Amino acid sequence: MNDLIKKLVEAYGPSGFEDQMRALIRPEIEKYADEITVDAMGNLIARKKGSGGGLKVMIAAHMDEIGLMISHITEDGFCRFTNIGGIYPHTLLGSRVQFEDGRIGIIYSDRITDRGKIHGLDKHYIDVGASSKADCPVSVGDAVGFVREFVAQGKFLSAKSMDDRIGCVVAIEAMKRLKKTPHDVYFVFSVQEEVGTRGAEAAANGIDPDVGIALDVTLAGDTPEPTPIAVSLGKGTAIKVKDSGMIAHTGLVRTMKKRAEAANIPY
Ligand code: ZN
Repeated sequence: MNDLIKKLVEAYGPSGFEDQMRALIRPEIEKYADEITVDAMGNLIARKKGSGGGLKVMIAAHMDEIGLMISHITEDGFCRFTNIGGIYPHTLLGSRVQFEDGRIGIIYSDRITDRGKIHGLDKHYIDVGASSKADCPVSVGDAVGFVREFVAQGKFLSAKSMDDRIGCVVAIEAMKRLKKTPHDVYFVFSVQEEVGTRGAEAAANGIDPDVGIALDVTLAGDTPEPTPIAVSLGKGTAIKVKDSGMIAHTGLVRTMKKRAEAANIPY
């Protein structure tokens, strides 16, 4: 499974620029789906027909990742940018980024006079190797994703965009293993989650499911001075009860807990 994880996490696909992700996922799911569609938003939707008399179930994982978008190119050919999704400036300095065509850029910032302070996003730029605005090979509106190599050390995996490519892998794996069910199951590989769950909302409106399950990542509460959250690496899956934007359906949470206990899945 690590080969598939590596393929998906390293790929380019900031919110709104998911074409390459769709092209990577489609061949992985084709032989398990009864019907594959792409809606107007760009969501890749794979339906697995039930034997009848069941519910309509939507299982969603988002293909997009956080990234940056070029907002301005200086006369010297450096690219200023804005954020796509939640970006912390202190993670940027020295990072490599990739453009849609595979071109690589390096992030640096204006002169740092106080090492204890971090510049805001607007004081950072991407260097694409141009020497002037005229010979800059990229344009305002181009989006970049980050470049990080996938690493597997024992059962611990490290990569960019585990959020939410790992959810996509789980959905693909679930599709493979799902044999007979009365339920009509729609696997949605959604777009634009990082800018407000836009794809999944459109897909839910289109499919109109009875039950919706989102597969995504969460914080861990077992690191130094963590956010207090009852989640630890290696101690099972997390079942969402609430976050800043939603409260999970209590009946569905109860059902998930019961199923996990019956199947000896730690949570
Ligand atoms: Zn996510």
